[in-house]
Amino acid sequence: MIPFLDLKAQYASIREELEAGVLKALASTQYALGSEVAAFEEEFAEFCDAEFAVAMNSGTSALHVALLAAGVGRGDEVITVASTFVATVAAIDYVGARPVFVDVEPGTLNIDTSRIMAAITDRTRAILPVHLHGHPSDMDPIMEIAATHGLRVIEDAAQAHDSEYKGRRVGSIGDLGCFSFYPGKNLGGVGEGGMLVTNSGDYADVARKLRDWGQSAKYHHDVKGFNYRMDGIQGAALRVKLRHLSAWTEARRQNAEIYNQLLTDADVVTPVEEPYARHVYHVYSIRAPERDALRKTLQDNGVQSGIHYPIPVHMQKAYEEFGFAEGDLPITERAAKEQLSLPMFAEVTEAQIQAVCRVIHEQPSAD
Ligand SMILES: *Cc1c(COP(=O)(O)O)cnc(C)c1O
Repeated sequence: MIPFLDLKAQYASIREELEAGVLKALASTQYALGSEVAAFEEEFAEFCDAEFAVAMNSGTSALHVALLAAGVGRGDEVITVASTFVATVAAIDYVGARPVFVDVEPGTLNIDTSRIMAAITDRTRAILPVHLHGHPSDMDPIMEIAATHGLRVIEDAAQAHDSEYKGRRVGSIGDLGCFSFYPGKNLGGVGEGGMLVTNSGDYADVARKLRDWGQSAKYHHDVKGFNYRMDGIQGAALRVKLRHLSAWTEARRQNAEIYNQLLTDADVVTPVEEPYARHVYHVYSIRAPERDALRKTLQDNGVQSGIHYPIPVHMQKAYEEFGFAEGDLPITERAAKEQLSLPMFAEVTEAQIQAVCRVIHEQPSAD
């Protein structure tokens, strides 16, 4: 069987240093925040070329806090995409705001910046682009529109650690950037985790308060906050793993290159990488007109695959109240029917990629 993701392969490759780091945190008894988390914040901020990083217990918490820090609240509108994991939209809902979905570019499946202006109303407070699959959104037009209309920009970089836009690391381009360290992400913890990065000291201060019960000092609750603190053990594990992230990114990019070459003549569309982008292939997603048939053939031949995502968020029952429905976002909806994610992780072997591509080539074409 060729797995979609193999966390055991990564664990085996860093086992000694990971266990040493985790055991050190265990012995320190600093289990919530503490010095390992503080050190990880500093190292991750530096990695992102951001001034500040505030560690959280998940990427969703980081998005929630980022929206609050940006002043987004009840009755406000946030322009975003429906081709994303549900958490992006859940966070907008948590603050009482309304997601306004715009359609995506057919290539990257990221926000189509030419559609943003038409979605702006006097209630719009922020734009929330998602760097889907690890490919950056086209940030320059987003920042320009935001500046013109007095909007905040919050990057959902949960899938895009180490991704770059015009040579700049994502996350620190907008006002606030949010990362997830869910175990399957490009930088994954040994449990849940997340990070907010920003160049604004004010946003960082607010975020630090919000994640820890709104406290300015112990038992002084200035604002209504949350228990969104990162575990000490998580900080320790992520510090160890951060040291390997660049090598893992390179391996993913190498693997994508092998896929791209082997699939050149196949009846599928390989992922695009725009000239402005450094894609980090959190997901290697191809487009196949007969997606479900191909997925079954792969399964029958022992190849796991995934779909990111089969139902766009605007068509999810839970978010009906926002007034969007099937037909509103044709490019997003079509992609949901054609996307197929192939096995992608740093340790997947060339032989495994060849085997996957052989199955795809042998699939009878639709016509
Ligand atoms: C994973 C993910 C999140 C949520 O992160 P968690 O750490 O799972 O809460 C948010 N947005 C996107 C695009 C994601 O992929």
